[in-house]
Amino acid sequence: MSYVGPEPDGFDPDGWDGRGGAPSRRFGGRPILVTFAALVPTALAAWLVWQVVSGPGDSEPPKVLPAPGQSSTGSPSQDGSQDGSQDAKASGAAPSKSEGSKSPERSASPSKSKAEKASPKPAGGSGPLKGKVVVIDPGHNPGNFKHTTEINRSVNVGNGSKECDTTGTSTNAGYTEARFTLDVAKRMRTVLERQGATVQLTQSGDRAWGPCVDERAEIGNTAKADAVVSVHADGSGEGNRGFHVILPASVRAGAADTTPIVKPSRDLGERIAGNYLKATGQAPSNYVGGGTGLDTRSDLGGLNLSKVPKVFVECGNMRDSQDVERLTSDAWRQKAAQGISEGIVSFLDG
Ligand code: ZN
Repeated sequence: MSYVGPEPDGFDPDGWDGRGGAPSRRFGGRPILVTFAALVPTALAAWLVWQVVSGPGDSEPPKVLPAPGQSSTGSPSQDGSQDGSQDAKASGAAPSKSEGSKSPERSASPSKSKAEKASPKPAGGSGPLKGKVVVIDPGHNPGNFKHTTEINRSVNVGNGSKECDTTGTSTNAGYTEARFTLDVAKRMRTVLERQGATVQLTQSGDRAWGPCVDERAEIGNTAKADAVVSVHADGSGEGNRGFHVILPASVRAGAADTTPIVKPSRDLGERIAGNYLKATGQAPSNYVGGGTGLDTRSDLGGLNLSKVPKVFVECGNMRDSQDVERLTSDAWRQKAAQGISEGIVSFLDG
């Protein structure tokens, strides 16, 4: 097995040397891709990832979707406070709500934020995803920090209880994860709708807080989504960088039974990982997943309670200076949205 695809854009091999408790090997351009594929736990998984990163010349090159226009998003705000906690555990901090940027959708079609509020729009597209339903779950909510009582209440996630929702993390400069996830989610919606999919967001900044994690799962279930992707960015330490996709573990407890979705969710996650890597040049995490870019968890309510294929994508680490350069770039977020969307298309086409 050999990697024959293009070098990822903007890839800096000197920057990926595995600090912070990460695997000791270097993350170089060619070696990382080979290593990435080789470490995926099963032969089938390795093949799938290899296939999506291999590019033209192989039997089935990944689809290249049309890129929506770039937005005029500005630089992140400089006035936020910090919470410094890991994404999944983040809570309590009150990052700035100032809007240093606008989403492309807000400027292009301001009525959209209300349109997806209640139910999926009918599939109007004629692309390859016509008839497919995709739910995008932008992690957290920009308003959560003002509603700590509401989001701190416990909800049952099958094998335990979790906070209803969390504030999420932010960059040191105050660009919040909640703003990041909304921006990427809306860009994904544009890409996927152009492919003919019916797309629903679990929230689009149209509600004061939440939804709770159990409701986020229920939205995907009720929509009978063909695929659900929850978009996040992590809040780990400087030097910890890269992306990872979180897959549902097998959980059967209380209201949770992920048995039917474990396998298709892994397929979805592997395709997203491969396409994301190719689209963004963002290497797999050097601190989670042993270099595979994949992690499996049993403690996330949004996965435990899902009845349809679902993964989380941690796009990068908002506390690492190199990742922050990417996460705060409009152009890079477009690549991120494109890469995740291409993974979804590959899954739904496959
Ligand atoms: Zn998050």
